[in-house]
Amino acid sequence: MAKRVRTRFAPSPTGYMHIGNLRTALFEYLIAKHEGGDFILRIEDTDQGRLVEGATDIIYDTLKTVGLQHDEGPDIGGDHGPYVQSQRLPMYKKYAEELVELGGAHYCFCSEEEIERQRKEADSLGISFKYDDPCKHISLEEAKARVAAGEPYVIRQTIKGDGETYFDDEVYGRIEVDKDVLDEQILIKSDGFPTYNFANIIDDHQMEITHVVRGNEYLSSTPKYNLIYQAYGWDIPTYVHVPPVMKDEHHKLSKRNGDASFQDLVAKGYLPQAILNYIALLGWSPETEQEIYTLDELIKEFKISRISKSPAIFDIDKLTWMNGVYLRNMSLEEFYDLIKDILKDSIHREVDLLTVAKILQPRIDTLAQIKESVDFIDTLPEYDTAMYVHKKMKTTPEIALKALQAARSALADLQDWSSEESVHELLMALPKQLEMKNGQLLWPVRTAITGKQFTPGGAIEIAYILGKEETLARIDKGIEKLEAELNQ
Ligand code: GLU
Repeated sequence: MAKRVRTRFAPSPTGYMHIGNLRTALFEYLIAKHEGGDFILRIEDTDQGRLVEGATDIIYDTLKTVGLQHDEGPDIGGDHGPYVQSQRLPMYKKYAEELVELGGAHYCFCSEEEIERQRKEADSLGISFKYDDPCKHISLEEAKARVAAGEPYVIRQTIKGDGETYFDDEVYGRIEVDKDVLDEQILIKSDGFPTYNFANIIDDHQMEITHVVRGNEYLSSTPKYNLIYQAYGWDIPTYVHVPPVMKDEHHKLSKRNGDASFQDLVAKGYLPQAILNYIALLGWSPETEQEIYTLDELIKEFKISRISKSPAIFDIDKLTWMNGVYLRNMSLEEFYDLIKDILKDSIHREVDLLTVAKILQPRIDTLAQIKESVDFIDTLPEYDTAMYVHKKMKTTPEIALKALQAARSALADLQDWSSEESVHELLMALPKQLEMKNGQLLWPVRTAITGKQFTPGGAIEIAYILGKEETLARIDKGIEKLEAELNQ
């Protein structure tokens, strides 16, 4: 019987959720869920120098917000805990000692300064450095005696023999390397902490992870990890290395270089679900042209065989487009609920906010565009009369003035301002009476009441939103400006 599929997301708590990491978490989740398996969260905090306060909460919050619910993890427990590496320390030491007995590792007493000196020397000569550790020739008995006597030590991997070693990756295929080029890296540091190189193997084994899914920067170290699995005689997991997420052809997306994290994107007005949908397509493609997916649809469609080897470029314009699709696919009520606090913050006049939401919904792609789109509601901006002249609408200052005067007197007589329809009926009757095209009336009216070239909604909806008094005042101002210009 095939084993139950188990994947893990193993972030280091850095204080933000990198987009590339979230994409990897999504792939891990989808691989597990596609097979009805488990998705595990493990916190890799053994690099104590890099710990950031509150950083694990950001991980929990992000996973929760996007709906990647883990089945086991530090906050919810499970049968394979603890799920935080710093709580697993005694175990790594025990396993490392066992690996020494098995011949897969050895105690090393070399001073770091000496190794560093050799590394620098090699660097200055331009040759690649590989430490040839004399300690691997010390007998186990002697090494143990030195450890017992309190001499500082690390535990280092032992790579025996020469020739090729290989492993199979689901995305990159068979990777073969000459053992000669593999470093005998440190597994347990002198402070007793494991390195990532060791902890990932022990944890993945202990947590019964069947598919190790991670960034392709680990591809070159995987042959070494594989040798350790073999030394223990453990089942080798299925390796799924995923391509990097790039900002452009040459640079990886990196929070450290100022690129947006998940939290930054949300703050910039992107919806968590749209972000998740977009990043699913970074390095993975479905069999069809479909681009908009719910998480359930992704679970159904996701196949490892469609993960690409090529780096994926993060295209903010594409995300912006997709976010707009998500906004437009909402019901007006959902959309209103989502933006009402931003509206209340941006508009201080008593207006029908639901109608404001209605005119915004088809027009914006991110929530960050709202404030600027509705700024004219509070105050009419200064504008130039040149704006009344629109080639396509066939308006001139004379036509605009005529249109505004007619609209002003008709609107002044309108008693019922309680719905868009009454304003609509009234304004739409005017062009015929004035023998004008619709645009020749509506363009000047919209210009007068918004002072802007581009606005969500048209003259009718905006007049209704502003209310009678404000609409008339703004039209008066427009008339005044046009008269002043024509009388010059
Ligand atoms: N803690 C590692 C990282 O954040 C995890 C790598 C892995 O998934 O094995 O890069």
